[in-house]
Formats: sequence, structure tokens, C-alpha cells
Amino acid sequence: MIENPVPWPNGAKCAAAFTFDIDTDSFLHLRFGAAMPDKVAATSWVRYDEIAVPRILAIFREYGLKQTFFYPAWCMERYPHLVDAILKGGHEIAHHGYIHEELNKLPGRDAEAEWIGRGVEVIERMTGRRPTGFRAPTYQFSRHTASILAETGFLYDASLMDDDVPSLYQTDRGQVIGLPSHWALDDWPQYVCNSDVGYNLNIRSPREASETFMAEFEAAHRHGGMWISIWHPWVSARLARAEALRGMIETMLARGDVWLAPMEEIAGHTKRLMDRGDWQPRRVRLPYYDGPLPAHEVPPQEG
Ligand code: ZN
Repeated sequence: MIENPVPWPNGAKCAAAFTFDIDTDSFLHLRFGAAMPDKVAATSWVRYDEIAVPRILAIFREYGLKQTFFYPAWCMERYPHLVDAILKGGHEIAHHGYIHEELNKLPGRDAEAEWIGRGVEVIERMTGRRPTGFRAPTYQFSRHTASILAETGFLYDASLMDDDVPSLYQTDRGQVIGLPSHWALDDWPQYVCNSDVGYNLNIRSPREASETFMAEFEAAHRHGGMWISIWHPWVSARLARAEALRGMIETMLARGDVWLAPMEEIAGHTKRLMDRGDWQPRRVRLPYYDGPLPAHEVPPQEG
């Protein structure tokens, strides 16, 4: 079903990554502003990261895994002890905005480039190296984002949903490798419910959530695809959910032919294949649109 499967390292049938977005309370400040000091319960909900991040790190350590943590830079500055623990585990830290701002709501390209640059500076200062990967907060990727990532020197983006295997996003300022995922691999619709914050979803059991994630994994494994899952520690490292997560890792490792790797390594492998001419990704021109459609293509819609 995949027309252009990737030759993964050592004959692996698929590449897989458990990526965590360490948002903690960043997005609540954008939502509540001056009311934030009185949003104590909502804040406690996301401050579970104090328990959750060490728990995730312990699970990864138990199985000898190195994975990727996408970080709003503000969270790194606010909670540096969690950054230290992640770095001690040998994991990758990638860029996830400054304070989880929605890029397509910023006032323009210059502002977007400035805030992305501010995140790069914090990551470089706190980890000793520039980030190579990026995921747009809440997947809010603007018409400028890909070209800013390319000109800033990012190797890969993990925000878009356009393929089952890596893509190559081409812009007028250069190119960046895309490592796409999609909503069925995000823990948010499975587990997040908090009326205080306006999320009123039905909470799935860990078994139901695992079935959704693993159906995608089994298909990626059969067809030579890529399984990039998106998690939040304070959402998915609660006890029952952490047990389910561990079960997924064990299932994948037991196969013996799954390449579980940090995103940077998956992107690096993709780049080496491209450079050697051994495999080429589909090329995608971004942005899809520079402006709205002309009026003659859009019938008036009422209501
Ligand atoms: Zn996020």
C-alpha cells in the first residue's frame, strides 16, 4: 500500500518513535493570562509533569531507549531540573515554540522568525547544541513556518500529516525533511478532559487508546511505514496509562524488526539515503497557498 517504502536500517520493517511534548503550563498562560494565578486546579493538572517526566524517563531507561522530547523553551527555563534529567538520559530535545504560541496567530513572518529564534537560543544555551527538529505547538503551522525552519537550519519538522513516510518540504528559502504523523497517534483525543480548560472529550480507557495506537503500528509494520506517536507526560504517564505505554514498547521490542529511534536519527537516516541516492522522499511545495482563492472560485455561502 505504500508505493515508496523506506529502506530502514538493518532491514527493520518500520521506524517508530514515542515523542513527548513537554508543554506543562505554558499554554495555560496564553489561554488565561491575568486569571492564571487563580487557575490552581488546572495548573496542578499539567504540573503532574513533575511526576510524569521522571516516570517516562525511567521507562525509557528500563528498555534502553533514547527518544525525543519537544519543548517550549519557556518550560525549559522555568523547569530546568526536568531538562537536566532528560539530557542525563541521552535523549534529544527538539523545538516546540517559545511558550506554546500558535504560529499562525502571530502578526507576521518577522514575529514568527523572532519567536522561533528565541526558542533556538534557549535550547542551544541549555543543551549545548542547536535543535535540529521542530513541532509547531497545537500543529498551528503558518504559511511562513516551513521557510523559517529551512532558513534557520532545521533538519526536520514533525508538525504535518501529509504522508506515511518522510516527505521533503521545499520552500523559497530551502528545504526541510518532514516526519509526518496524524491525530490517531496523538494522546490528546484519547485522554484529555478538563472542563476548566474547555476540553470536554470522552476519556478512553488505556486499553481502547492502546488499540488505536497499535492498529496504526501494525499497519506501519506490515507496509514498511513510520509510526510517530505524540504524547504529553502529564496526560499519558498517569499510572494506568503509563502501564499501557510500557506494554506498547514491549510489544514493539519483542518483534525484533522495529527501529525505535529518536526523531533526529530517523531524519538523519532519511538525509543519508537522499544524499547517497538510495531513496528519495516525495517532494512537497510549501506553503500550499500564498493567499485565499480568487473570488470567482468561491461561491457565496450563507449562514
Ligand atoms: Zn504542545
